[in-house]
Amino acid sequence: MTSTARAQDVIVVGAGVIGLSIAWQQARLGNPVHVVDRATSGAGASGVPWGALWPTAATKNGLGHRLHRESLWQFETFVRELEEASGLSIGFNRPGRLELLSNDSRRQAAIRESQAAQQYWPTFSNEPVQRVLTRKEALELEPAVTVEDWGALACDASACVDTGTLLAALRSSIIRQGGVIDDDSEVRDLWIDGNRVCGVVTDRPIPARSVVVAGGAWTSSIAPELAASTDIVPVKGEVIILQSKEKLFSRILKRSRTYMIPLPAGRVLVGSTSYPDAGFDSVPTEEGRDALFASAVSMVPALSSAKIESQWVGHRPQSISKSPYLGEVPGTARLYVASGHFKIGLAMAPVVGQLMGKILDGEPIEHDLSVFQPGRPPRTSSLK
Ligand SMILES: Cc1cc2nc3c(=O)[nH]c(=O)nc-3n(C[C@H](O)[C@H](O)[C@H](O)COP(=O)(O)OP(=O)(O)OC[C@H]3O[C@@H](n4cnc5c(N)ncnc54)[C@H](O)[C@@H]3O)c2cc1C
Repeated sequence: MTSTARAQDVIVVGAGVIGLSIAWQQARLGNPVHVVDRATSGAGASGVPWGALWPTAATKNGLGHRLHRESLWQFETFVRELEEASGLSIGFNRPGRLELLSNDSRRQAAIRESQAAQQYWPTFSNEPVQRVLTRKEALELEPAVTVEDWGALACDASACVDTGTLLAALRSSIIRQGGVIDDDSEVRDLWIDGNRVCGVVTDRPIPARSVVVAGGAWTSSIAPELAASTDIVPVKGEVIILQSKEKLFSRILKRSRTYMIPLPAGRVLVGSTSYPDAGFDSVPTEEGRDALFASAVSMVPALSSAKIESQWVGHRPQSISKSPYLGEVPGTARLYVASGHFKIGLAMAPVVGQLMGKILDGEPIEHDLSVFQPGRPPRTSSLK
């Protein structure tokens, strides 16, 4: 295959939050970067309207957990730098989180987690970064919330981000730094010569020195080399947005598998459902909508009069072997994968952009990333 176009240093396949974060890092380093997406940013999982960014328990210390927290701690810097580079403002704040405890064993675990968090985590307010509250203390903070006798875990390190504004700022920053983003440009194949990648094929061949595939839930199906070295599948999930007459709570709330993010103007995001066997089905379900609404009302009874404004469906990229992929594909030089971040891809975006920058430049990395290597043998431990 031949092409007269000048080879870009890096082509990134996928303009979701992971692909854009990698491309932004490349653009800042002065490397010519070209992002291609078969639709546009937000067409995949990164279209979830707001993301909750909360740290995994301080008692969990696998590499994935540590990188996740490292990424969360830098979100203020990530947002500020992007705002400066793009001239756009990003909806981001760190309102804290209240996890409503519903049995004694969870309360005991929350006490252990809080002790570890106070020892190792940075602080974000005048309060301890994480603490277990009695029912009375929790109700003083959030009077509209249903709190049971086991009280609540308060985590001041929890944050949330408006993904629409984050993606817009990433795109603008990349373009301002001379990067190219092609929407509506589907990668149909990789351009491979012998044992190295030379670019991608859309409706034309596009040459590149390196190709990074950040195709979300579609990653493994983009080319045979990716199917052979990764095992990423879609996990359908939904959130709903409620509109209430007044603001009823100010922290992120969580109980069991449901969480709520307080949004501006009395709106609330309620998440999330999970359908591991639904493939790429993208039809919103009545069952999911009703279950999320019922959970929201049980946590905050005054939401019973709220209107359901919208329901959003997306596909989380999950690797069957439970860890994300970050690294070079064995047997195909300069072909890289960054995908499989499942439920925490928004949170992981800053650190994944930085790590992929180092991998592409062959810089030393302080962590042993072999657990994220494409083509790795099957394993069972999970990131989250
Ligand atoms: C219901 C739900 C709630 C969530 N909530 C949170 C949360 O609160 N916090 C959090 O951190 N994470 C959350 N997530 C997870 C997060 O959304 C994902 O981990 C993250 O968005 C993945 O980003 P990505 O860039 O890897 O993939 P995507 O955003 O899916 O991007 C992949 C891109 O690749 C493109 N593409 C695919 N195939 C091709 C091709 N052949 N050629 C060119 N382009 C292609 C697609 O069009 C898409 O734009 C949630 C996910 C869901 C579904």
